[in-house]
Amino acid sequence: GEAARLKRLQQRLSRSLRVHGRNRASKRRDAIRAEIGRLNARIRHRRADFITQEAVHLVRDHGLVAVERLRIKDMTASARGTAEQPGRNVRQKAGLNRAILAKGWGGFLLKLEHAARYHGAHIEKVNPAYTSQTCHACKHIAPESRESQAVFRCVACGHQDHADVNAAKNILTAGLAVTGRGDLGVTRSTKRQPPTRLAA
Ligand SMILES: [Zn+2]
Repeated sequence: GEAARLKRLQQRLSRSLRVHGRNRASKRRDAIRAEIGRLNARIRHRRADFITQEAVHLVRDHGLVAVERLRIKDMTASARGTAEQPGRNVRQKAGLNRAILAKGWGGFLLKLEHAARYHGAHIEKVNPAYTSQTCHACKHIAPESRESQAVFRCVACGHQDHADVNAAKNILTAGLAVTGRGDLGVTRSTKRQPPTRLAA
């Protein structure tokens, strides 16, 4: 709703900018600008609140949180390319970067690590290669198993899950393998829940 309202305000502002002169019009523009500023601040604050709460929640209830090590800077750089060799699929990647940055993944990781230090939890960053293409049930790797953004259906064994959930399970498995906890981590953990809750 706020995104739609922001868009409407920006449209109103640009319409009002085409009408030149008059004092009244310029006052109206100032008012629209102020409202856009307030709306942006509210969106920013809520996002910050949300990621802080989510980070604390994760590390308070779990001894280990496994996340994908996303190289946000590399991805942003590779999309731009160079003057001689402009990046391929620049527009697609720019869209992806925008989405990643908009969701504040980097900011979330920082909050998560900070909260983890405070609560004594461990954050394991795993290699993101193939996490979304690997079947969690039979470990078969195939890009075709990723039917769509949402659906994972293994071409080898037929296992089906939400694509993000399948990937998250693979990330957790990789995190447990790296820390050597395996299944023991679940039973030995002094935390209240086994590591079943997955980071979005
Ligand atoms: Zn499978």
